Parts: sequence; C-alpha cells; structure tokens
Amino acid sequence: MKIGILGGGQLGRMFIQNALKYDDEFYTIDPSADAPCHNISYFTKASFNDYQSVLDFGKDKDVVTIEIEHVNALALEELEKQGVKVVPNSQIIKTIQQKILQKEFYKIHDIPSPDFEIMDGTSDEIKMPFPFVQKLNTGGYDGKGVQLIKDANDLAKLWVEDSVLEKLVDIDKELSVIVAKNENGETKTFPVTEMVADPKLNLLDFNICPTNISDDVARQIEAITEKFLAVVDSPGLFAIELFLDTEGKVWVNETAPRLHNSGHQSQEGNANSQFEQMYRVVTNAPLADTDTFGFSGMLNLVGAENFSGKVIYEGLENVLKMPKTYVHLYGKTETKPGRKMGHINVLADSREELLEKLIQIKTMIRVKA
Ligand code: ADP
Repeated sequence: MKIGILGGGQLGRMFIQNALKYDDEFYTIDPSADAPCHNISYFTKASFNDYQSVLDFGKDKDVVTIEIEHVNALALEELEKQGVKVVPNSQIIKTIQQKILQKEFYKIHDIPSPDFEIMDGTSDEIKMPFPFVQKLNTGGYDGKGVQLIKDANDLAKLWVEDSVLEKLVDIDKELSVIVAKNENGETKTFPVTEMVADPKLNLLDFNICPTNISDDVARQIEAITEKFLAVVDSPGLFAIELFLDTEGKVWVNETAPRLHNSGHQSQEGNANSQFEQMYRVVTNAPLADTDTFGFSGMLNLVGAENFSGKVIYEGLENVLKMPKTYVHLYGKTETKPGRKMGHINVLADSREELLEKLIQIKTMIRVKA
C-alpha cells in the first residue's frame, strides 16, 4: 500500500520504523527539510496545513493518515470525496482540532469532561467562576495556548481569541489511555498509563505503566473508553488524556486523534506497540493485542535550558550499558530548550524499581549542544 502521512516528525518516524517489517511504501509531508521522516520515507517538503499541498500529496495514495492534528482538514475532506481513504476521517479531525467542538462532543455524548464556557466574542460576560483555565480554540500544542486565570486581576491577561474557559480541576494524577478502532469496527484499548509532568516546561516527562489506580477509577476509565469508541464515527488510534481529581473522579482533558507521547513505552513494554496498532488501523488489519510485560516507563529526552545548536547526548554511553533500557532518538540534529529529541524506555519488575531507574537515568543524561 501507498501510505501517506501528514507530518514528518518523530511519531511518523517511529510508525515507519515499525511498519517497515511489512510490504508498504511510506510518504510524508512536512515543511521542515530535516524533519525526522525526511530520510526514511518518500518526502515532500511542503506544509500539511496548505490545502493544495495536502491535495497534491494525498491524491495518489491508498490511505492518508496524520501524525499531527494541525493539518488542513478541508483538503482531507476533498480527498475523501475523491475516493482516497483518510484515517482518522476529516470529520473527527475537525472536531478535535477545535477545542470548542471537542468539548461539545464530550458534552453531547455524556463523556465526563470539566465544565466549560465558550468565549467567542458573542457575549462579553464571563460566568465561569475563578479560578479557571483558558484554552485557545485552535493552535494550542504542548501546553501552549493554555493559561490559568486565578482571579479578577488575571482577567487583563485573558487572550482575546475564541477559546474555552474550563473549570480548574484539582488534579491528583494525569492518566492516559490509547484506544484503537478499525474500519470493521473492531476495538482495542491499551492499559492506562500515568504521567508525571515537568511543571516548568508543561511537557510530559515520565510516563509509566501500569498505574496504581483503584478498581473504581479503572471502571470509570473503562466506561469512558467504551463510550468514546462507541460514538467516535471514524477508524483511528486515539490518545485520551485524563485527569483523576482529588475526589477520585475521572475527567477527559482532551483527545489526540493520533499516536501519542504517552504511548511510547509500549514499544518494549507491551505485546504490541501503539505504532503497530496504528499500522493495523491504517491498513484495516485485525487489531493487535496490547498486554503489558511487567512494569514499563518512558523518559523524554528534552533539550536542556540554555543550549541551542548541534545536539550532544551527554551520558548516553552509560545509559546504553543499563539492562532493559532502550534508547530512541528522533534524528533531529539541532537541539533547543524544551525540544523533544528522543526518549528512553525502561522495563522493571516493580513500580519502585521502575521509578528508581527512571530517576537515575534522568540524572545521567543531558541533551546539550
Ligand atoms: P496541550 O494540548 O497543550 O497539552 P492541555 O489541555 O493538555 O494542553 O493542558 C496542558 C496542561 O495544563 C495539562 O496537562 C494540565 O496539567 C493543565 N490543565 C489543563 N486543563 C486543566 C484544567 N481544567 N484543570 C487543571 N489543570 C489543567
């Protein structure tokens, strides 16, 4: 099959890396000439946000998919009309791209997500009680486009753009669950993972599996995933990001219609990885089993503060000496503060051993220039 991917980043790169064991051809489109996929696929240097570029890129493919959601959904809709298979479909991409539509989707389908109010210039009265979180309708990514409004004094910093004002959740844990649905309607869910965020960069830092959750929390998550899979009118692989609040209630923060950072430890930690599952979805093959092997975790390799330029992975040699430790680099030559450059997966026999190893590795390696 000719598989076209909008976006040529690390998610696409790892998707292709895994899928090369099958007999397909991989095409990617990305505006940066040195995107992680540029030298491992048939590469088009153009914007995945540009209508004509996406149309030209997609028209001769058997299936077009995405590794980033900020793509031109109108062009995907046109490709669908022309008979090209698009996974996930343009409709669900459109819904997820716009925070307002995404929040309404949860509301319509009774999927618990924090209370919200829409700010779109039609009324200047804000009814949402303080504190709340403002989220831009479009263009948010990796914690950008999200800000906390604590009290009336903070109203001055409110962005004057279409957005969602969302109730601030008293978060105990951030969890994630990756689900998949193929064209035949078959579904599979990965075990829930737990995130530990770096408060400074707002970027995912550690991600571990399995997580310490009660049966009640597990049941709430199961109800959410079952509901989502029942109502989502598209094949796809989706990462549902969840908040567990301090009262034990689970809320959907947001959903990504694609491969996700919170699923990376599945590369070595599960019977099949999210990348394999994505391949099965895109080709409408039987979905793969997702069982875990013991405890697994992932540490993002992020560009250190104050270093920009040609990347050096300080301490990498020592990490490579460690057992059940797997280094994944993304082929990015230039580092800058906060840039995701790679990740390290770790397997362990217990949660304690896993956390110990992850913390140890974090002190051993630095992404410098
Ligand atoms: P992004 O799409 O940029 O990752 P998110 O919507 O996931 O943005 O928000 C980034 C982070 O902000 C979350 O991981 C969470 O820590 C915090 N956050 C977002 N929404 C809320 C909320 N309603 N209550 C509390 N914290 C929130």
